Formats: sequence, C-alpha cells, structure tokens
Amino acid sequence: MPNGKGLKMKRLAYISIILFLFNACTVDRSFAVQEYPDTRLNDIAITTVINGQVAIVYNPNHCNRMGNLVCNFFRAHEYGHVNLGHLITRAHPARAEFEADCWAARNAPRDQVRAAYAYFMNQGFMGDWAHGTGVQRAQRLSRCSQ
Ligand SMILES: [Zn+2]
Repeated sequence: MPNGKGLKMKRLAYISIILFLFNACTVDRSFAVQEYPDTRLNDIAITTVINGQVAIVYNPNHCNRMGNLVCNFFRAHEYGHVNLGHLITRAHPARAEFEADCWAARNAPRDQVRAAYAYFMNQGFMGDWAHGTGVQRAQRLSRCSQ
C-alpha cells in the first residue's frame, strides 16, 4: 500500500506527464508534418499517420474545384487537429472538429478564413453530425476569429 509520500510522487509524475503532453500538443510542430496529395481520397483533407509520422493527406481535385484559399483553410483545419493533439487525445469527434475549425480561424490568414466563411455559408444546412452544418461552421469561424 503506497504511503503519503508515494502518492505525492505519483501525483507529481502524473502532473509532469500531463504538462509534457500539453506542451507537445500546443507547440507548433507544423514543420514535422508531411503532406501528401491523393486524388483517391474521399475527402478534402485528413490527418493520419503514415510510416509512424503524422501526415496530412489532401485531394488536389477537391482543391482545384473549391479554390486554393478554401483548400488552404481546410489544410489549416487539419493542422489544428495536429497542433491540438487530437490524434493523441482522441477527443470526441464533434468537439475535435469544433476545435480544429476554431484553431484554423485563429491561425489561418484572413483571406483564407473569409473564403472558408463564404464556402460554408454557401453550403447552408448541408453538413454532418461531427462538423455541423455549413452555417454553423461559418458562425464558428466568425466567433473564433474575433
Ligand atoms: Zn477535422
């Protein structure tokens, strides 16, 4: 049975691990992320692990169709997942999507955020349960970028 000191040490160890993970998740590690174009991807962009490395895979066909500004916003959204540590923390999908949109709204260049806002407004009430509707995402962008 652990004594008081043992418990305190255990608690300190847990706090150290949490602080380490927090740092690892909030430090900008964009430089370490490889990006791969893949026209077979059934999505605009995803964050995944390839050969043990965090990677962003995007579909250049979608990018051509929606334009570079919107496409780059979606890439920023994926960098949000990376920088917020969503691959590690396994946050609730809807919460993770919300946070990644917010991160992108704060960190992407303004012209990309504006283009994404117009794109989402144009989607109207189309969407899915994790990301929300286009209108909800547009409102999220304007709230988060203030
Ligand atoms: Zn996402």
